[in-house]
Amino acid sequence: MSVVKQELVKETGYYGEFGGSFVPEELQKALDHIEENFYKFKDDPDFIEELDYYNREYIGRPNPLYLAERLTEKLGGAKIYLKREELNHTGSHKINNVLGQVLLAKRMGAKRVIAETGAGQHGVATATACAMFGMECVIYMGEEDTRRQALNVFRMELLGAKVVAATEGSRTLKEAVDAALNDLMENYKNTYYMLGSAVGPHPYPMIVRHFQAVIGREARQQILEKEGKLPDVIMACVGGGSNAIGLFHPFEADKDVKIIGVEPGGTGIEAGIHAAPLVAGTPGVIHGFKCYVVQKEDGTLKDTHSIAAGLDYPGVGPQHSHLKASGRAEYVAITDKEALDAFQLLSKLEGIIPALESSHAVAHAIKIAPQMSKDQTIIVNLSGRGDKDVQQVFEMLK
Ligand SMILES: *Cc1c(COP(=O)(O)O)cnc(C)c1O
Repeated sequence: MSVVKQELVKETGYYGEFGGSFVPEELQKALDHIEENFYKFKDDPDFIEELDYYNREYIGRPNPLYLAERLTEKLGGAKIYLKREELNHTGSHKINNVLGQVLLAKRMGAKRVIAETGAGQHGVATATACAMFGMECVIYMGEEDTRRQALNVFRMELLGAKVVAATEGSRTLKEAVDAALNDLMENYKNTYYMLGSAVGPHPYPMIVRHFQAVIGREARQQILEKEGKLPDVIMACVGGGSNAIGLFHPFEADKDVKIIGVEPGGTGIEAGIHAAPLVAGTPGVIHGFKCYVVQKEDGTLKDTHSIAAGLDYPGVGPQHSHLKASGRAEYVAITDKEALDAFQLLSKLEGIIPALESSHAVAHAIKIAPQMSKDQTIIVNLSGRGDKDVQQVFEMLK
């Protein structure tokens, strides 16, 4: 039984004052085409059945909601449950979104899928889904990133994707996004653009949330089975915000459930460099939508940094921007150092090596659980596994 409030009307693409679509006219045409098809297929019983099938048989859903007993005992407060997205095929929540969108692309008759990637995680997930469905796949990546992430480039190539290096400007994620959008404008009749987080112009934040909300739907049902009541707090790390909105959305109407998003505080919010637009940014427009942005007073972007490459983005999803502005959710920052400590503590106590991204959420749970009582519960979204980060942590601790 679905406990999620159904969307009865089409969304406008605005979440309060945030979101929208600030793009050139030709690109708007491509976005309208995607939106139209999303509404056409999202409630289609065949589409839902196919999505359920691959969620179960290929990704391995539902994944467990696991009571972290030793961590809970050590902290001496609220019970900590981990939503185990890191057990999904390819090791994170990203595959949920990619699977949904590739099925949509297939229904739309697209022959080609394109995507941008920074650290390579979204590129690998996209290449994986395209391999499974035999779709042509082109991944745009900044030239600088192709060097830093050579192993992920090789992974994508193994999976049959073509990796195209973007050689303009700073040769990182921004240029990869520009290259992918140019490709889409020219080829939208046969090409689908797979966006990797709950960001970008409408309809992407809505589409990505739709496919990630499986996290929160499962978690809600699982906690009710285990505890007989809703959780007191749910929390997740926020880069663009897809794993977080996936967990949060099905709990949004439950006013007694406290929602906390955890941003990367980098070397510190005050003096240091961070990537925390909700904690320390101001409203602005980035990549075709309005949200909180890490920017200077004149509107140019500030340099960002996080120990976790997947959280290092100066903007954030429009729905998170609205959840902050409306007060429904709270957003906090965790520093590189705190995340690194949580990475090690969870590994030692639970035998689970979390992604550095997810370690930010774990770190905040470690902070607040001791102040809560033993009959209270926290759900932490464990967005990914840390195998990809072991080398980096090894070098940092050495
Ligand atoms: C990409 C990534 C994130 C950040 O992306 P969101 O869209 O904010 O979820 C978080 N955790 C992991 C493991 C990732 O790979």
